[in-house]
Amino acid sequence: MNYDFDLFVIGAGSGGVRAARFAAGYGARVAVAESRYLGGTCVNVGCVPKKLLVYGAHFSEDFEQASGFGWSLGGAQFDWSTLIGNKNREIQRLNGIYRNLLVNSGVTLLEGHARLLDDHSVELDGQRYSAKHILIATGGWPYIPDFPGCKHAINSNQAFFLEQLPKRVLVVGGGYIAVEFASIFQGLGAETSLLYRGELFLRGFDGAVRRHLREELSKRGMDLQFNSDITRIDKQADGSLLATLQDGRVLATDCVFYATGRRPMLDDLGLENTAVALNEKGYIQVDEHFQTSSPSILAVGDVIGRVQLTPVALAEGMAVARRLFKPDEYRGVDYQTIPTAVFSLPNIGTVGLTEEQARAAGHQVKVYESRFRPMKLTLTESQERTLMKLVVDADSDRVLGCHMVGPEAGEIVQGLAVALKAGATKQVFDDTIGVHPTAAEEFVTMRAPVAS
Ligand code: FAD
Ligand code: NDP
Repeated sequence: MNYDFDLFVIGAGSGGVRAARFAAGYGARVAVAESRYLGGTCVNVGCVPKKLLVYGAHFSEDFEQASGFGWSLGGAQFDWSTLIGNKNREIQRLNGIYRNLLVNSGVTLLEGHARLLDDHSVELDGQRYSAKHILIATGGWPYIPDFPGCKHAINSNQAFFLEQLPKRVLVVGGGYIAVEFASIFQGLGAETSLLYRGELFLRGFDGAVRRHLREELSKRGMDLQFNSDITRIDKQADGSLLATLQDGRVLATDCVFYATGRRPMLDDLGLENTAVALNEKGYIQVDEHFQTSSPSILAVGDVIGRVQLTPVALAEGMAVARRLFKPDEYRGVDYQTIPTAVFSLPNIGTVGLTEEQARAAGHQVKVYESRFRPMKLTLTESQERTLMKLVVDADSDRVLGCHMVGPEAGEIVQGLAVALKAGATKQVFDDTIGVHPTAAEEFVTMRAPVAS
């Protein structure tokens, strides 16, 4: 059978672009369809603009701390529209880079909404395309629960384009996005409350990390409200909002930002015309080779709901390209020891097992912890403290997990991830010479385990 393309990719985000480029590089005839923005969530409304806003938010601390080093600054002023305008220009530049990357690697770029017609055909702008393989890489979309007045809440996509910085913000949720955006709003000067329905935010992260971040955010003046949930939002005549909580309290605010997870993007995708099945959580079901229940259709990235991180989508996209078009170089994706960072202020960096996971998995664990005031802050009024923690298997001496809350934790944990991937023991950490004076050297100088 003659197909128009060897591979038709739906979605030019992290996973789709990686698969398309590599497949084309291996000599396949590839098309990629994109309905919204080149580069997908990460480039347009995710990792990249988020990190730019985090950098912006960090300046307020830098200004405060500068006087300890002899600097006197005039009253610092922040202008939201300058930050958003500059951020938008940078994203436009990146969109252009993504376009060139695709076109220069020989991929046919089709801009529009793609809809599956059958297991080998896609429709876009009234045109039908056939392909031997189809890759679904359509990502996800913010999810806000349905309740009275939920239409007054904004999601992360909208937060990146607010016309002004709200004076007061209620952030709802306890995951990555809630914690990061609460830090952004707080750092930029908004009165910020974070509401989470459970006991303590960042479920799944190490307990010491969660507690340490709670303390640090409280020290910065963030209003943390755990065991709380909003039951309704009412808009006032002056545009402000009243949020009624489950316990009956009513909070006045200018913006309610929901970060309560993401759903797979399957809107009008035409899955019903194919044999593709969903799993019990509503994500596309795939096997270990990213094969859906249809032999010709694969799926990667957020839409399969495994680990919703850009480097994971990249690894999955690459695996698909290799499996289809360079099988001798194919390796599956290893989901063990994926490092990750939460770009709250201060950052969290983590790789490997938490203490709770290690114990639950039956390990006898030794825990090493260090809490200290970062050297940079010793000349300042700041009382911020850094946490570093190692979780070690007592029998094999293997380091199972590294966790940090503090400046540049995301940068530091990348190198530790290499050590863990290589199976480093605590002895290897101890034998490693530190870089002095840094915070990171603390990871190779922790000698005495904490009492269990
Ligand atoms: P996406 O990047 O979402 O790409 C899917 C693309 O498909 C989109 O461009 C969409 O428009 C397109 N599409 C959808 N349906 C169709 C259709 N029918 N036809 C044509 N095109 C279609 N991860 C990190 O690792 N680090 C971070 O710091 C980080 N920060 C984040 C911050 C925020 C606020 C958010 C929301 C996410 C963040 N992530 C981060 C997660 C990361 O962005 C995602 O895991 C990643 O983008 C997933 O890539 P993907 O290829 O699966 O999907
Ligand atoms: P998460 O899944 O991380 O967190 C969702 C949060 O919302 C949880 O605290 C959850 O509570 C809470 N929640 C869910 N439903 C409700 C509800 N109905 N009412 C109240 N609270 C609710 O999602 P995010 O939206 O924060 O982020 C999506 C994903 O994007 C992340 O998981 C991550 O993979 C990725 N991401 C990565 C980043 C990074 O690498 N730095 C940054 C941002 C996003 P509970 O815990 O009780 O279920």
